[in-house]
Amino acid sequence: MIVVMKVDSNEQEIASVVARIESVGLKAHLSRGVERTIVGVVGQVFPELRDMLELLPGVDEVIPVSKPYKLCSREFHPQDTTIKVGGFTIGAKEVVVMAGPCAIESEQQLLETATAVKAAGATILRGGAFKPSTSPYHFRGLGEPGLELLARVKTEVGLPVITEVMSPAEVELVARYADILQIGARNMQNFNLLVEVGKMGKPVMLKRGLSATVQEWLLAAEYILAQGNSQLMLCERGIRTFETYTRNTMDISVIPIVEKVSHLPIIADPSHGTGKWYLVTPLALAAVAAGADGIMVEVHPQPDSALKDGAQSLTFENFHLLMSRLKLVVEAVGRCLASPSVKVES
Ligand code: PEP
Ligand code: MN
Repeated sequence: MIVVMKVDSNEQEIASVVARIESVGLKAHLSRGVERTIVGVVGQVFPELRDMLELLPGVDEVIPVSKPYKLCSREFHPQDTTIKVGGFTIGAKEVVVMAGPCAIESEQQLLETATAVKAAGATILRGGAFKPSTSPYHFRGLGEPGLELLARVKTEVGLPVITEVMSPAEVELVARYADILQIGARNMQNFNLLVEVGKMGKPVMLKRGLSATVQEWLLAAEYILAQGNSQLMLCERGIRTFETYTRNTMDISVIPIVEKVSHLPIIADPSHGTGKWYLVTPLALAAVAAGADGIMVEVHPQPDSALKDGAQSLTFENFHLLMSRLKLVVEAVGRCLASPSVKVES
């Protein structure tokens, strides 16, 4: 349920609406727009509440919200969420490019990649130290020593970093190193993990689960927002379908869908979305043309000897080509590429 305040409502009237909502054991979520304030009601609402709130001074109308997700819905929060990271803003006019290896393998591999992607115009360095792996016999990441390499390269090259956290017990550790905490597709419904990252005051990127519907994905996002962390972005990374030619089916349509139903920024990951390096650039262009706020792309100095996801990783040269083509699409849709930040908090 949302309470739309009148254009000329005053602070006292808004406060009374909040107090009334709280007096019946529910939570109020304020969203202040340029013209009006909207008060969202969070919790189990009851039919009489609508009349109770509609009678209060300053209230224009009370609208029931049909969707089960609330805090991440546009109805609750009409303005786009924007997230500041390393000198630029995600979810506004700028399009961000997150690039780097799937897994951190060595200092040299990470440093070379970070230097190359920054020179080509990337704005955020990606690299996993804790890797989800379908097989327990495959490389599962360097763990904390990998995070230390990430911190060193971050300072040396001057790019903010995004890295995955896989377990609630490791959230604090990973948050010490990461500018953005990544929740991987396999953990989209690890509710204890969502609660823990929700408690950290750090930006989070929530990937869509392998077979998750939009509603399941947004309800997972709701877990993070409900803990008071509003710095959340979503990431489409392909879903499982009957098609086996590609690793996953990249769902481009979900980009405008998310933009319609939610205020959260949406990033596209065509590397995991396709599993094939030669499909990464076309799908990255399509995603930005469809309205994505950024892309995440895997890049490796030598994809054929990568410990993880070599088949979907771009060489430096191919990443450079992607960037030159991406710039044209970004400009065609009236946006601009975020420029690599000069100052990064270490
Ligand atoms: C990754 O980004 O390296 C990754 C494991 O992604 P996903 O969770 O989308 O499979
Ligand atoms: Mn990967």
